[in-house]
Amino acid sequence: MPFGLYLHIPYCAAKCRYCDFYSPGGSDGVPGAYIDRMVAELAARLPGRPSTLYFGGGTPGLLTPAQVSRLIRAASPLPGAEITLETNPELVSPQKLSGYRQAGVNRLSIGVQTARDETLALLGRRHTAQTARLALRKARQAGFENLCGDIMLALPHYSRAEFDATLDLIAGEGASHISAYLLKIEPGTVFGRRPPQGLPDGDEAADFYLYAVEQLEKAGYAQYEISNFARPGFMGRHNLIYWDCGDYLGLGPSAHSCMGGRRFSFPPDRAAFLAGNLPEKEEGSCTWEDYVLLRLRLRAGLNLKALKERYGFAFGPARLAFMKQLAASGYACFDGETLALTPAGLLVQNAILTELL
Ligand code: SF4
Repeated sequence: MPFGLYLHIPYCAAKCRYCDFYSPGGSDGVPGAYIDRMVAELAARLPGRPSTLYFGGGTPGLLTPAQVSRLIRAASPLPGAEITLETNPELVSPQKLSGYRQAGVNRLSIGVQTARDETLALLGRRHTAQTARLALRKARQAGFENLCGDIMLALPHYSRAEFDATLDLIAGEGASHISAYLLKIEPGTVFGRRPPQGLPDGDEAADFYLYAVEQLEKAGYAQYEISNFARPGFMGRHNLIYWDCGDYLGLGPSAHSCMGGRRFSFPPDRAAFLAGNLPEKEEGSCTWEDYVLLRLRLRAGLNLKALKERYGFAFGPARLAFMKQLAASGYACFDGETLALTPAGLLVQNAILTELL
């Protein structure tokens, strides 16, 4: 049974002001004990060989090549597996990159965020635009063809010029994939407690999103998911498993899994994980609603025949009429069999889902 494997690395040098991932700051590396524990978890829990492996966090770029190599050997991915590692620009060095390549990493994701240095400082990032440019360049030189850059949209005092400069930086260094996310102010973060000044309002943020989609497409990055864009042949295989309700196993504190339709997660507790005491939390089973919600994130959309075959569910006439209405108003394409949201539809996806579900 093919499945994707996610390994959570909850260590960061410092906490970014907007971030609500489980990733305490204050670390300049990942302790050996965490790797030992993860290797033990892999030995105990792996149901077979994964077809994709994703190191997420936190900051997996804090891992040494030797640690990455040990984890990949313990995970034993299938030949040809996509192996992704997330890192931050200031952590990239030629030695580390070549070590990661030798360990088997074949896809690198670098958190660029923006080309405006003042905003990077405001976000609590530890790099500049020039550091990000050089990191992407070094990654290409080290042989990473499958190279992703992350962009944040609608940042404080945002402008189209800031987006253009960021896209130029990432595309100019040859990235094959770009993720572009709207900044969300999350409770429990520094920004949640003290929102920064100069934030665009909802309508302005929506305009920035639509502008970004248009410019990314013009630059040769086709949108395939609400926040993800790729040159031909470079869509992220691991995340596509999530959006197709495939099987994935997530290990580490705060990681989520769905295996054989059963969803579960691990609590966000690094100390408990290190002590080998991390009970699974049941999260119910994967339902047709989950499938609809996730497939509608994709530009390929939701195929109603696949929905019926996989979950035994079919929409009634009222919902089908609503889908036709969406198409007539430019929010979706609908040919009677597949409903696919347009960028304008993706922006109001929540309202559409409320109606559909
Ligand atoms: S954004 Fe990334 S680097 Fe910053 S705190 Fe969150 S996980 Fe760590």
